[in-house]
Amino acid sequence: MSLQGKTAVITGSNSGIGLGVAEALAGAGADVVLNSFTDRDEDHALAADLAARHGVSARYIAADMSKGSDCRSLIEKAGACDILVNNAGIQHVAPIDSFPTEKWDAIIAINLSSSFHTTAAALPLMRAAGWGRIVNIASAHGLTASPFKSAYIAAKHGVVGLSKTTALETAEEPITCNAICPGYVLTPLVEAQIPGQMAAHDMDRDTVVREVMLQRQPSRQFATVEQIGGTAVFLCSEAADQITGTTISVDGGWTAL
Ligand code: NAD
Repeated sequence: MSLQGKTAVITGSNSGIGLGVAEALAGAGADVVLNSFTDRDEDHALAADLAARHGVSARYIAADMSKGSDCRSLIEKAGACDILVNNAGIQHVAPIDSFPTEKWDAIIAINLSSSFHTTAAALPLMRAAGWGRIVNIASAHGLTASPFKSAYIAAKHGVVGLSKTTALETAEEPITCNAICPGYVLTPLVEAQIPGQMAAHDMDRDTVVREVMLQRQPSRQFATVEQIGGTAVFLCSEAADQITGTTISVDGGWTAL
């Protein structure tokens, strides 16, 4: 399948799942726009590397997804946005009665409101181009809950709801909107948590991964960024033309429990 001639904007894509999705879309021939708020030389180098390896155009555009005006100007600066992947996200863990208000506000802004702003800015470009795909990276926590993650879970459930509304507002157009709901994915951030978990539980790597970290993931295996990227590419394929307003879980059976 070729996405040649399509431009994909992936928010929060200088690491982890966002970078994996950018890699998969570039591998399928799409021109890509990488984003984060950091604007370092290595962020621009990631785009140059993708362009060189896949023979596509790739740019890095700095924008802070906690600010609505930055979200909208990211899409404006991209100039085209046939595929929008809303991926930027942060986490904070604390009980509700001591959850810092500024963390709540930041999580709702970055994990939920950014998708509203980018979608609002991208839809006119998709309509003008006569085709569009919106892929929102939600979570198993967009469908289920855990204690101490109130803001994250509220935001991810919100992303699932926003995806359904976007799908209904575009249902008669060649535009789809869906949410991918990953379980635990092995990203550098998750990899970095393993030594601490090993020490806290006095377990070896395999045991702590299987018994502690993947306790809710029946496959007892992490999902990979390549699998999330492949799912995003599938949602951009003709086979997915009638898939809209739904969620695709990539969670090793988490939500079947
Ligand atoms: P990550 O920390 O590697 O990636 C987060 C990305 O968001 C980074 O590129 C970071 O630069 C960017 N970002 C953070 N704040 C930003 C801001 N203000 N403006 C612009 N960019 C910003 O983590 P990840 O695991 O790859 O997570 C990516 C997405 O996948 C998140 O939405 C997360 O909730 C979701 N997710 C992750 C997992 C998992 O197990 N890793 C599971 C389910 C869902």
